[in-house]
Amino acid sequence: MERPLTGRIKPDGEPLSIKEYRKGGGYEGLRKAVKEMTPSQVLEEVKASSLRGRGGAGFPTGLKWSVTPADDGTGGHRYFISNSDEMEPGAFKDRILMEGNPHQLIEGMIIGSYATGADRAYVFLRWEYGESARRLRRAVSEAYEAGFAGKHILGSDFSVDLYLHVSAGRYICGEETALLNALEGKRAIPRSKPPFPQVAGLWGRPTIVNNAETLSNVSHIIRNGAEWYRGLSRCRDGGTKMYGVSGRVKKPGAWELPMGITIRELFEEYAGGMGDGFRFKGMLPGGGSTDFLVEEHLETMMDFDSMQKAGSRLGTGTMVILDDKTCPVGMVANLERFFARESCGWCTPCREGLPWVAEIVKAIEDGSGREDDLTLLEEQTKLLGPGRTFCAHAPGAMEPLQSALKYFRADFETHIREGRCPYKAQ
Ligand code: SF4
Repeated sequence: MERPLTGRIKPDGEPLSIKEYRKGGGYEGLRKAVKEMTPSQVLEEVKASSLRGRGGAGFPTGLKWSVTPADDGTGGHRYFISNSDEMEPGAFKDRILMEGNPHQLIEGMIIGSYATGADRAYVFLRWEYGESARRLRRAVSEAYEAGFAGKHILGSDFSVDLYLHVSAGRYICGEETALLNALEGKRAIPRSKPPFPQVAGLWGRPTIVNNAETLSNVSHIIRNGAEWYRGLSRCRDGGTKMYGVSGRVKKPGAWELPMGITIRELFEEYAGGMGDGFRFKGMLPGGGSTDFLVEEHLETMMDFDSMQKAGSRLGTGTMVILDDKTCPVGMVANLERFFARESCGWCTPCREGLPWVAEIVKAIEDGSGREDDLTLLEEQTKLLGPGRTFCAHAPGAMEPLQSALKYFRADFETHIREGRCPYKAQ
């Protein structure tokens, strides 16, 4: 099985130096792009690869790049950004890539800048990822020294400057327009769309924002071709994917696997199934803001379309397992508290609604829930659902709640009826 993203990461987790990266073909994709291809040929190759965004939304990467307007001739900057603000509860896949193979991301950003005409590229990094910051900083200076970044890359007319920006640390900065505001030094709140960042992004200029895992794929696509990349996958979406499993399984971790592997394969073959003494109860397949799935969904393929058909989302592809000894009400209470705290406070339903929802779920967990609380919570999942708030934060927060009310309703009812958490007695 080919593992282009992780195959060369060292077992001890130490980062690949530029010398080691180049020994495995690193920066050959950039050389090919700049020396043998036009920017639009690079863009078409990425389009043909069926690479879809790995941050959660799954938007086709080539299509996103293709809507940047042509150079307006004003000489203004154009920007390219790696969204490395990995904060989804349960997700740790981007960190593995950035720490183990930082040049892979940097090469993807430089190729992306070439394809879209960007002359400034930023890594927007989660504040807590100190080790990633150190390794990326070193990789950026190595790339400059080797002539892969800066002016006249590889003797061409193409120039791009790279910057590492360490975020002040808020979940909402992962939303691409809030990220842009944060980068401009403003309050990190989402912007209304349109205009989309591709047209008017950072400081009003054309800007591409892609997730770090997404960009780590780009050099491999250019070096080996779109057809090779599509062939790595088991489904319509191209390539491999970083999947992860956390919770009470035998071997929690993250693995690069063909896009479209089933939940059962990931959970049983790679994560080793449940730990001794625990039984499977359910899972959040793509991180904290996705709907729970249960046993009947184990054969579902983990690709964007199949997960949606099953009633959830692929999200980050890093699943959180719920076992039979963990209280699902407590798990949801914990998530809702997180989402309430991370609301940016810009729109009223989210700012006021999420803390209220978190309080109700916590009261149920603690045994002081009321009979009509479940109806109330169900109403809130609609009132805070898609289209009711300024961005997708509140609807995302409602996904684990609405699905928990569907699959684990009996647990909520027992808490209310007995006035206690039955799991705490175990
Ligand atoms: S939904 Fe929440 S996070 Fe999004 S803009 Fe409104 S208050 Fe901010």
